[in-house]
Amino acid sequence: MIELNQVRKTYRQGGNEIRALDGIDLHVGSGEFVAIMGPSGSGKSTLLNVLGALDRPDQGRYLLDKDEISAMGDDAASDIRNRRIGFVFQSFHLLPRLTVLENVLLPQRYSKSHDASAEQRARQLLERIGLAKRMDHLPGELSGGQLQRAAIARALLNQPALLLADEPTGNLDSKSAADVLSLLAELNAAGQTLVLVTHDPVIAAKAQRTIHLADGRIVEVQA
Ligand code: ADP
Ligand code: MG
Repeated sequence: MIELNQVRKTYRQGGNEIRALDGIDLHVGSGEFVAIMGPSGSGKSTLLNVLGALDRPDQGRYLLDKDEISAMGDDAASDIRNRRIGFVFQSFHLLPRLTVLENVLLPQRYSKSHDASAEQRARQLLERIGLAKRMDHLPGELSGGQLQRAAIARALLNQPALLLADEPTGNLDSKSAADVLSLLAELNAAGQTLVLVTHDPVIAAKAQRTIHLADGRIVEVQA
């Protein structure tokens, strides 16, 4: 599903060049759960942003199934992102003035084609993750764990082939983190391809493979 070939990404800041990704080769098969670990600044978020088509590599190739993301312009990349990729962030990124249901429906608002079944899907997703009773509430009325589960429902609305999560439990207490982790593990068990950045070895232990980054390179792979 994912094929990265000698991917490089360099940031220029002042007179300095920062090699955030320095020759990444990575294959992820459909249905896999891969964890990414590494010290702060090692390139984890940059890698996830490349996988999520939020960012393009400046060298190397990224294929998502048949689509060569690395060769795309911004519009084509954001179209792929909308249709094929779901993204979960550490800080949830829910809009405070929209209800939980409206937040979950946001990806539909951004997509080009109207999909009449989206609302039904959103309700089903919220039910499945135990938030049916909260769907008309504002994010401010939910706990951190509930917010992250709502953010996961939103990421799943367009039935993405690939779910990406950047430290999804980083802002949660241990009980909520465990809830979110079991939801992600359940989704993967049902076939969802999942790539997740984490600092937590307990979370990484649930993955089929853990990739360790340092200075923009893969330095170790644990199966
Ligand atoms: P991690 O998520 O592992 O902490 P990042 O991928 O965020 O690491 O960053 C990798 C390196 O790239 C770091 O040295 C960081 O400072 C640098 N970097 C990331 N994003 C930018 C940016 N937008 N502009 C300049 N440097 C950046
Ligand atoms: Mg990061």
